Amino acid sequence: MRKKIVAGNWKMNLDYAEGISLFSEIVNMVRDEKQGEQLAIICAPSIHLNSLAKLGGNTVSIGAQNCHQKESGAYTGEISAKMIKSVGCEYVIIGHSERRQYFAENNELLAEKTIIALQNGLTPIFCIGETLDERNNGSYFEVLKSQLEESIFGLSAEDFGKIVIAYEPVWAIGTGLTATSEQAQEVHAFIRKEIAGKYDSVVADNTSILYGGSCNPKNAGELFAQTDIDGGLIGGASLKSRDFVDIVKTFNA
Ligand code: PEP
Repeated sequence: MRKKIVAGNWKMNLDYAEGISLFSEIVNMVRDEKQGEQLAIICAPSIHLNSLAKLGGNTVSIGAQNCHQKESGAYTGEISAKMIKSVGCEYVIIGHSERRQYFAENNELLAEKTIIALQNGLTPIFCIGETLDERNNGSYFEVLKSQLEESIFGLSAEDFGKIVIAYEPVWAIGTGLTATSEQAQEVHAFIRKEIAGKYDSVVADNTSILYGGSCNPKNAGELFAQTDIDGGLIGGASLKSRDFVDIVKTFNA
């Protein structure tokens, strides 16, 4: 059975005190209100990770938003997968469209990041998604397919079984333009079919595929009710404890 997951992505928001305060609220609310087996994760800026991992206990897991592709070395300003793991994090977002766009991260580099994360015992939350132009010109299936093939389809079936995929249409991130549940389901089913073709149907059935892009408490229910949508990667709404926890609770409904 694949896991149901709601992961927040705080991006470059909240100073240390604000981060601790918001996270403490989220942990308390999830502890009091969550029912069911869904996992709640917060992917925070690096500076917060050590403290949050200790506060989260078994209630809310912690992820980083990026890691370097090398084990260690002269890469000033970077943090390694080993460092992230060493403070108690379990997850790392890899390939977010903002990293692809602003930091020129390409599929080949993201393949290296995925491998180093897995080698250090982290679960990559691997993001793929098309731009508005690619959606409008109808090339989105090809784009998604090449993102999968060039980054993560080189993994063994065993390693592939350890990752989580997030489908995040770039045109829906931070724009308020959510994909309709039909649009999202169509792509999630496509991704699962591609995984089955590359590996097998057991691997495909066991892979959690999250939707991300202006997901909020109002639209989460319809999105998460789709057969191939196993949760969400939540940006803006994860900065409000009530909204984030309401999205987590959507799986109870
Ligand atoms: C994201 O950054 O991963 C994201 C989905 O952002 P938002 O929910 O704000 O669109």
